[in-house]
Amino acid sequence: MSGESAGPLGAPAILILGQGSLATATRIRDAFSAATIHGLAGRVEGADRSFDGFGEHLRDLYRADVPLVVLCAAGIVIRALSALLADKRAEPPVIAVAEDGSAVVPLLGGLRGANALARRIATALGTTAAITTTGEVRFGLTLEDLPEGYALRDKAAGKRFMSDLLAGATLQIDGDAPWIDRSKLALAQDAALRLVVTPEDRDAAANELIVHPRVVVVALADPEADIPTGLRAAGLSPLAVAFVLAPNGAAVATDLPLRFAADVEAALRDAVPDPMRPVVRQGGVAVALARSPDQVHPAGKPRGSLRVVGLGPGDASLLAPAARAALSRAQDILGYGPYLKQGGPYLADQRVHESDNREELDRARHAFRLAAEGRDVAVVSSGDPGVFAMAAAVMEALDGAEEPAWHGVRLQVVPGISAAMGAAALAGAPLGHDFALISLSDNLKPWDIIARRLDAAGAADLVVALYNPISQARPTQFDEAIAILRRHRRPETVVLLGHNVGRAGERLTVTTLGALKPEQVDMRTVVIVGSSQTRTIARAGDTPWVYTPRSYPKG
Ligand code: SAH
Repeated sequence: MSGESAGPLGAPAILILGQGSLATATRIRDAFSAATIHGLAGRVEGADRSFDGFGEHLRDLYRADVPLVVLCAAGIVIRALSALLADKRAEPPVIAVAEDGSAVVPLLGGLRGANALARRIATALGTTAAITTTGEVRFGLTLEDLPEGYALRDKAAGKRFMSDLLAGATLQIDGDAPWIDRSKLALAQDAALRLVVTPEDRDAAANELIVHPRVVVVALADPEADIPTGLRAAGLSPLAVAFVLAPNGAAVATDLPLRFAADVEAALRDAVPDPMRPVVRQGGVAVALARSPDQVHPAGKPRGSLRVVGLGPGDASLLAPAARAALSRAQDILGYGPYLKQGGPYLADQRVHESDNREELDRARHAFRLAAEGRDVAVVSSGDPGVFAMAAAVMEALDGAEEPAWHGVRLQVVPGISAAMGAAALAGAPLGHDFALISLSDNLKPWDIIARRLDAAGAADLVVALYNPISQARPTQFDEAIAILRRHRRPETVVLLGHNVGRAGERLTVTTLGALKPEQVDMRTVVIVGSSQTRTIARAGDTPWVYTPRSYPKG
């Protein structure tokens, strides 16, 4: 089961530093369907992938939210990850394993299945995992991280229950959950605490913890039918819903997992072949109840998702955790080659589709086609995807699209730090007052519109951030743009050039509008031209700070 902010986890990566670990690593890999062995280049032959720097590779995978199994001393793993440990939410499971397979130690990711992963590895190696989490040690489970197929009605109550049980309370169980039978919880018929496993939508009494098994399947004959009303009629909790079946291509407003079928009634019968009670029907909604989560079959095809992900200016530390999670869960990742590289590394079972930077609309359509097949798709953009980038191309592809299935895709835009914000932060606060972002690219708009906007922004005394400032195809336009701004601003006006912000070769230049030369600028530069108020402060051993005060001088 996943944490609240991070997405579901992919298959583990098994890292080894020497040939002597390959046999153990192979036994671990064989216990998982898509695990891969990563071997240190020059030391290991026969791994699925090789890497050069251990620490760097480990940190890249950790940031990519990949479960990690590392065959070396626990101390080495801890030191390599120490700088990244502050953010507990983005913590994948990390397991250290002795080279000979004699010890399996879950180090991190306790709330995201590290103990279960360690147990599975230990079983494959014929040993016992060194579990240190109190609840897990005592009871063999935690109520804060339930197995697949079960949901806690109230997370805070789960925590409370766990501490009461650790303090010695006993528990009675009402309902079925095989994982409870396998645990070492202290059960007693007359116990004060009750764990109730039920799909029913009812509030817990003071001494009760309600766990909802995902045993409910909802079929919509009418895509506009009201799901909550249907569930209420059946008396079942939305948390117990395994999925909702909708007609192919239907646009359904729900956060519940959706699956699509040509014939939803037939799919409902396939999904729950042996219902516990008669199907409840209410206003276009049919609700079936299975006996247990493993009696629910994935009928129909899944709802695909399309996330347009902003990678930030370059450095992985400036990538939002939500973007990280979207990348790690994606089955297909589309983008321009250098951006794809920036968002990696990817797992062996993730499909990466590289395309030319100019084919944005084609790329957006390709992404919709994959998502409409039910795949989990990410399209990457540098910076923010909504600033001169893929989010608008994706909206254009959707706007007026003939294919109804495209409208059924779960679509999300994950923001990123735009180049101007990245450059501004390095320099101080040049965007501290009103500003305009203008792209000088005339691929998609005529030059006279650009010229008019520059003139208007100049006249309005806005700070102006110029994107796509220059290219070989239009060598003279940067000069023209600057000439327009010079009509409104004095030659001493502060200009900031952010080159390769957040990337290798990062360079910040502070100059003036009078001194600015086109040779100083290329397509990897964002240019920020100050307003009449923008000023500098000398900074020891560096370019001066640049800032635009929040207010205008009075008078
Ligand atoms: N979506 C991107 C912008 C894409 S347009 C964003 O929000 O940043 C491409 C232009 O953005 C480049 O020509 C350059 O002007 C600017 N740019 C993008 N990344 C940059 C970086 N890391 N450093 C400097 N400029 C960058």
